[in-house]
Amino acid sequence: AADTPAGVKRVLLAAPRGYCAGVERAIRTVEEALTRYGPPVYVRKQIVHNTFVVADLTRRGAIFVDELDEVPDSALVVFSAHGVAPAVKRAAGDRGLRTVDATCPLVTKVHKEAVRFAEAGYDIVLIGHAEHEEVEGTLGEAPGRIHVVDPARAEEAVLPAGRPISWLSQTTLSVEETMGAVEKLRERHPGLIDPPSDDICYASQNRQEAITAIAPECDLVIVVGSANSSNSRRLVEVALAAGARAGYLVDRVAQAEERWLEGVATVGVSSGASVPDHLVAEVLDWLGERGFADVETVTLTEERLTFSLPHELRSPIGGVQ
Ligand code: SF4
Repeated sequence: AADTPAGVKRVLLAAPRGYCAGVERAIRTVEEALTRYGPPVYVRKQIVHNTFVVADLTRRGAIFVDELDEVPDSALVVFSAHGVAPAVKRAAGDRGLRTVDATCPLVTKVHKEAVRFAEAGYDIVLIGHAEHEEVEGTLGEAPGRIHVVDPARAEEAVLPAGRPISWLSQTTLSVEETMGAVEKLRERHPGLIDPPSDDICYASQNRQEAITAIAPECDLVIVVGSANSSNSRRLVEVALAAGARAGYLVDRVAQAEERWLEGVATVGVSSGASVPDHLVAEVLDWLGERGFADVETVTLTEERLTFSLPHELRSPIGGVQ
């Protein structure tokens, strides 16, 4: 970078990065279910969007499925951190499955807002990515009343007439793109109602702010995270928008490429909310072996939030019916 002496190679390590409270809780939920009830523990969808975490839990006896019809009768099934539509919970109840809901409390908050707005007679614009599991789950709270708008295509959105409209968002979007989308929607729908607070979670926001702080100094940013992880992908986008000259998402260090380092003095490193920190350590080792041994941690915020386990796992004995 311009302000780095020639030949000096360094790494700026963003903090906070990696596990958020919702992901920690979701992983602990599967671990605790395995300890209490023994394998197999079925998990509907990836518990969190990280290939390493899913492979590790699979090795320990979790079985990941896409839909409930893959779960045998009377088995135990965990719902993932991204949340689940009420119809899925009902279907599990109808089949007599034992369930544990690992939905992040911050996703549950969005579900509750959706129900509240729908009951108050609103149509709801949900700013987010239609194919993401979190959006599918939230949509199910008020079928027909929630309209998904991709943040990149807000200007094309056609909103229904007749009812007042409010907006909500996926928890892992970038703050800027969400507010940009709201502005565009409001140009054509001036009556658009804001939620009590925006839905982008503290973890997404903190990781975005941290990478934004280092990005202008970075010739290259490497974000550790899986391709299906929304918050990880946003980190690359946010870094590029904030001035990083190049940015890549890697699931594991094996995907990092030597050619990225050509002519690079400063590398920024961060990771998504579903990424264990030892995967970041692998990237730091790889960089160290290539002359980037000087690592400076840049801490924007200290995070202390933790969530207790789902109530189904809090009782000392039995618990899950
Ligand atoms: Fe919850 Fe945010 Fe973590 Fe998603 S990224 S699990 S919403 S804290």
